[in-house]
Amino acid sequence: MELLDGKMVSLTIKDELRREVQRLLDSGKRPPHLAVILVGDDPASRTYVKGKLQSCEYVGFSSTLKRLPASITEEELLHQVRRFNDDPDVDGIIVQMPLPDHITPQRVTQTILPSKDVDGFHPVNVGLMTLNFPCLMPATPSGILELLDRYNIPTKGKHCVVVGRSRIVGRPTSIMMSRGGQPGEATVTLCHKFTPPEMLRQLCPLADIVIVAVGKPNLITADMIKEGAVVIDVGINRVEDPTRKAGFRLVGDVAFDEVSQKASFITPVPGGVGPMTVSILLRNTLEGYLRHHHALGDFAPSKEPNE
Ligand code: NAD
Repeated sequence: MELLDGKMVSLTIKDELRREVQRLLDSGKRPPHLAVILVGDDPASRTYVKGKLQSCEYVGFSSTLKRLPASITEEELLHQVRRFNDDPDVDGIIVQMPLPDHITPQRVTQTILPSKDVDGFHPVNVGLMTLNFPCLMPATPSGILELLDRYNIPTKGKHCVVVGRSRIVGRPTSIMMSRGGQPGEATVTLCHKFTPPEMLRQLCPLADIVIVAVGKPNLITADMIKEGAVVIDVGINRVEDPTRKAGFRLVGDVAFDEVSQKASFITPVPGGVGPMTVSILLRNTLEGYLRHHHALGDFAPSKEPNE
């Protein structure tokens, strides 16, 4: 069994970005700029945002954090998003989720300019991604595919079971794994909460690659995994652990100890998919920057006949 070391690959990507930023600075250009909006005071969100801002600093991007109170109205939040949309010095915009209940997340997502939507959640980007046209790709699914690619794991013609169909992870991952290109070209089965447990238990062992994004510790056990399968665990769950200072530790959706005995490759939690998401966000910010201001021009449908 080999660990898919997202932390290490993410660092490699960040170093690549850092070199890219240096080249931009050397040619007299400004660095890419990521704007992050944090609504309220959720501790997990604060941690995620801190990680994103520290990563910006590492690669040499400039960043802006706009903190807004949980009591902010939806219209005031949308107004702030539009200000970043209109600011030519901002290349990427993230509104950290989850948002307070009185705000509709889809309305916020749809207000971000697609070319600054580094999370890849805007329906325009989702549509382009589905059609296999160039776009800003959803960060976590892209991170998963990048990890498979950097470990030279073949996907063409393989059977991939994706568990979870959320808009941000499971569904886009299932589309990206089945699309043309490398990684991709897989036969994909998408399971979700209405997949009967006994059916999930039958389908997972048929998979060459299992990708799990549910949010339930130990959902996937060793009996559900084929010998030599590749296992990607997206789940991040807090479980009580009095031996830890924080009183909890993070685990994924896969029973790691037993599944790792059978898998050929497996992501750890933490240190697997999580760090990849951040480095892809940064890469998307650079992509937006290059398209807005410099070499690449706007996203255009590719001529390649793609499925
Ligand atoms: P979500 O909560 O939006 O959706 C969960 C999905 O799981 C749903 O599609 C649901 O149908 C499915 N599901 C629920 N119970 C199931 C069952 N018993 N069998 C099969 N499917 C079932 O999920 P999300 O936002 O995609 O997040 C999933 C997990 O991934 C969470 O733990 C989250 O913290 C984590 N996550 C990690 C990253 C990262 O960067 N590593 C990014 C996003 C989410």
